[in-house]
Amino acid sequence: DAVPIPDSVLNTPRLVRDAVYSYVNPEDQSEGAFLLSWNKQLAETIGVDKNKLEKAQWTDEEYDRLVKVLTGGARKLPLEEYIAGEKGPRLAQPWALCYGGHQFGYYAGQLGDGRAISLYEAVNPETGESWELQLKGAGKTPYSRFADGYAVLRSSIREYLCAEAVAALGVPSSRSLAITSTKTTVIREEGVEPGSIVCRVAPSWIRFGNFEIFHYRKDRVNLRKLAEYVSEEVFQIPKDNQDEMAEFAEKFRKAEPSKTTEDIKGKAKAVEPEEATEAPPRPVYRNRFAKMFEQIAQRTAIMVSGWQSIGFCHGVMNTDNMSVLGLTIDYGPYAFLDKYDPGWICNHSDSEGRYAFQQQPGICLWNLSKLALTLENLIGAQERVDDLEWLQEQEASPEKEMDLKNRAQDIVVDIMNKSFREVFLKDYRERMNAKLGLGGSDQVRKEDLTNILVPALSWMDDYEVDFHQFFRDLADYEVQGVEDVEQNMEQVELFVKKILPSTIWQARGSVAVEESKSWLAAYHSRIVGSEDLKNDQERRARMNKVNPAFVLRNWVAQKVIERMTESVGKTSTGNKEADPDKDLLDRVLWMCQHPFGEEKQAELTSSTTDGETCEFKRNDAGLEVYGEFVGPVPEWGQGIQCSCSS
Ligand code: AMP
Ligand code: MG
Ligand code: MG
Repeated sequence: DAVPIPDSVLNTPRLVRDAVYSYVNPEDQSEGAFLLSWNKQLAETIGVDKNKLEKAQWTDEEYDRLVKVLTGGARKLPLEEYIAGEKGPRLAQPWALCYGGHQFGYYAGQLGDGRAISLYEAVNPETGESWELQLKGAGKTPYSRFADGYAVLRSSIREYLCAEAVAALGVPSSRSLAITSTKTTVIREEGVEPGSIVCRVAPSWIRFGNFEIFHYRKDRVNLRKLAEYVSEEVFQIPKDNQDEMAEFAEKFRKAEPSKTTEDIKGKAKAVEPEEATEAPPRPVYRNRFAKMFEQIAQRTAIMVSGWQSIGFCHGVMNTDNMSVLGLTIDYGPYAFLDKYDPGWICNHSDSEGRYAFQQQPGICLWNLSKLALTLENLIGAQERVDDLEWLQEQEASPEKEMDLKNRAQDIVVDIMNKSFREVFLKDYRERMNAKLGLGGSDQVRKEDLTNILVPALSWMDDYEVDFHQFFRDLADYEVQGVEDVEQNMEQVELFVKKILPSTIWQARGSVAVEESKSWLAAYHSRIVGSEDLKNDQERRARMNKVNPAFVLRNWVAQKVIERMTESVGKTSTGNKEADPDKDLLDRVLWMCQHPFGEEKQAELTSSTTDGETCEFKRNDAGLEVYGEFVGPVPEWGQGIQCSCSS
């Protein structure tokens, strides 16, 4: 029943109190906007009617309206005609979320969302999954602070492509639906830049920072509302019920016969430390908020183990960029590793290396601890009437707070250990074992990590070996029934020569061969020692299914950005049909979504781009793919860092 409020009021940046989100109106930037690329595959996944998005089937009027939707100029148009599932949108009034967060280690107050506007949730009628469509760069919101609410083309291209690349590599991520160029000129440090809007999609966009803002404002009412919403709606965790509580009390009584049920309900965790050693172990009651935190910890562990295994450096792991769903979000100055360098800092603004590649798992833990702090009262509460009443009160009682805090802390520590550390290690082991071709999860042996992976990584670091190419080339290392590595030196040399940068091969090749033997010997004997792994061809095929042939490296993104910037310029002069790069984003998007080069063996054709001949092939949609963007990092493209400015 929204009463129309003028944009000048609705969208004015201000300090917003007592709200989880604010209604906003995306700015109409549709004049001269151009839809650069949209993601057909995702459109199908989220239940978009593909016929309505198929460009070839649009009338001019329909196309105009689509551009309006995707540029945020369409709030009065029936969005569902184009994008909603059968059930239609749940909310038709766009909104922006209110959040805070720790930036580079310090709490920074209300800071988001200054340029992301959610349109509505689309429900796929077949799967029942719901997806929140969000525009990034559609103008100011109450949370824009001193900034403009826009996004520049280069950062939009980076986000549009990389979210799809990360998802295709099997790591949870937000997804990209469409990217539009706008006529808006945006001012950044580098000068005036073309504007752009990405329509991005996730089941939920709630971040750790959404909880933090209420915690630091001591707004317990909104904190609880948010926690209830996230546990019930996002994680589908049922409310605590009396039966479960009683069952817990029963277990607890068995562990501690002297306590009565009532006693226990009241003080579920009030056990002295010295009693902890007694068997059976103390049961710990986990209410729904503890369960929610457990899920968040697990998902975060899976996300970061994914990053470490695909060589992805996020760059700005502030708590406002941490999704409660453990999705990779807010692609800024990220980078895929080129050469393996555990200390690599991809964010030019991160002078301390807080978010360096190898820091990422530890930072997740730190971020989780910041989230846990906001949830202590809720996790400690036992859903008893007096707990709940207290949580609704505005005035804190320090004794009560201490009581809940103490109860919560053991639970949180337990979750950090079991749901973060253990889940991370298990998942990381599985992923890395698969990359090494050592088989599925049943094949994972703990010692593979220490005997093969760790020394191999350290060898890669010493010889500046490309992280991704390493696994592709290792797939070609043949054991061919040879007993051990000493009798397989031809293969070893072949492999080392192929993977080392040529200058390093010339300078230190023989030492590198010698030093590779420590881990290659372990690798070799692990393979020949197992019936399942012995077959070279099968192992190669297995490895090439999980180790990408195409990686959205920074130099690739850079090249695409340069050419798209030029292309967008031509679009505005009406010359777009003659533009050879008019489908460049579609092509690179396709590669991001098909990183393993499955069809690489198929017919290759030659083509000329930038005066250089390169090989490409046509995909099923007739687009030229792979070609120039696969291969060694060019000299100009090594060690590119990006800054936060976007
Ligand atoms: P980031 O470090 O990129 O995650 O940005 C932190 C927050 O700053 C985001 O959540 C946005 O709300 C806000 N922000 C960043 N850039 C802009 C912009 N150009 N206009 C408005 N808000 C912005
Ligand atoms: Mg952000
Ligand atoms: Mg950002």
